[in-house]
Amino acid sequence: MWAETAGPLSTNAHLSHIPTFLVNQDPVFAQIFEVVDDLPIDDTHCHLITDHDAITTPQKFLERISLAGFAVPSYFPPGVYAQWMKADEATKYDLDRKYGIQEKVKGITNHLSNSIFIKFLMKEMAQFLGCDPNLESVIDARNGQEGGYFAFVNRLFSDVNIQNIMLETGYTEGGGAEAIARFEEGILPCKSHRISRIETIHEDLFGLDVSFDDFEILYKERLTSALDGAGNFGKKSFGMKSYLLPYIGLIRPLYDRAPAKASWQALRSAFGTISSMGREEAAQVTKDVCRYTFTLALEECLKRDMPMQIHTGDGEAPGVILRNQDPFFLEEVVRFDRDNTMRMPKIIPLHAGYPSVGKAAWLSHVYPNCYFELSIMTPFVHQNLYQRYMQVMEAVPLSKILFASDAFHLPELYWLSGRWGKRYLAKALTDYVVGGSLSFEEAIEAARMILYKNNRSVYNLPPV
Ligand SMILES: [Zn+2]
Repeated sequence: MWAETAGPLSTNAHLSHIPTFLVNQDPVFAQIFEVVDDLPIDDTHCHLITDHDAITTPQKFLERISLAGFAVPSYFPPGVYAQWMKADEATKYDLDRKYGIQEKVKGITNHLSNSIFIKFLMKEMAQFLGCDPNLESVIDARNGQEGGYFAFVNRLFSDVNIQNIMLETGYTEGGGAEAIARFEEGILPCKSHRISRIETIHEDLFGLDVSFDDFEILYKERLTSALDGAGNFGKKSFGMKSYLLPYIGLIRPLYDRAPAKASWQALRSAFGTISSMGREEAAQVTKDVCRYTFTLALEECLKRDMPMQIHTGDGEAPGVILRNQDPFFLEEVVRFDRDNTMRMPKIIPLHAGYPSVGKAAWLSHVYPNCYFELSIMTPFVHQNLYQRYMQVMEAVPLSKILFASDAFHLPELYWLSGRWGKRYLAKALTDYVVGGSLSFEEAIEAARMILYKNNRSVYNLPPV
């Protein structure tokens, strides 16, 4: 049941953003939500939206919006799924007979369509698009949006007032500089500041048959260019991101060049065989060179007072090793000890450490330089964001909580995170106001900090 006319609030623009019963049930919530819903959003961790999904199908939409669907190509031999996607009917038939692709994808997406996340999302999108709340109608309405795809993307951004994104460029679906620029232009007046991923540099250099000394020179050059020059697809960066944790687990900084050199040489000897190794064995080959490049990058971040985002929790199965993603495995890099001194660079463990939310919150509670970021959990745990936000705020200072979506593939993930993020943050803050822990003004200031102020200060962004 969605509000269409004015309820107990005088300004009814907000009522289209929430179910009526929430407003009627709790007048304090209604007051807090009215203010929070107007606030700007800075998204501290998110990805490129391309036009790949401008026209889609119900099955494709489910596949592209979920972490389980993300993995579909990995369930078949390399390249087979991409070939099937583009194939004519006859080739598709042959590939299906050999690999059972259609049936497997149907099985995965059928489970997805039966998640509360999708059922809830359909209601939200139907309300936004003005159509019936079922997958087919929503996809029809979405495909028929006037003004082109990026006009639709832009409407989604402005509906939840996203004013600034920290765009992590390590996942571009082959798009590169042009696709990134297209997206950044499409979301204007929302600003974009870029984050560079260490592994993007690895991808270009790890295949080179050069000495470790030469590799090190090239790596440092690329790092400096990504941070200060135009090395992040034509622009500078405001922070770095590392994807190391899911591969090796506990990250110990490595200052010693000797083990890094041995690892580099082992990688050279493994040319041609590494792609056929298991994921754990392959990760061991590059472990020390990756610890070394990570350490060099973190030193550069420290010098510039820039944060390092680190992939934690969540996980794009089946590629990553889920058990390695424990937030406590970041303690040594949060400390960043050298010569018996903790140097404490700004660390942002990503994805709320989900499902280990409490551990990520505790790490941030204990170490003053460790922040807390809300993505993936936002929006994927939907209505339970309320409980998760309570769990985060029980331990993490309000000044360290950063709003984020980790949006990928589909622009709806940006929008949904904003919509649900504001609603359930307002609901959690309401509990603190009703319980007497926060005054109304303190609750609103908490929302400002979480939704945008903390992001601007942690990255030292110029005033907006
Ligand atoms: Zn991400």
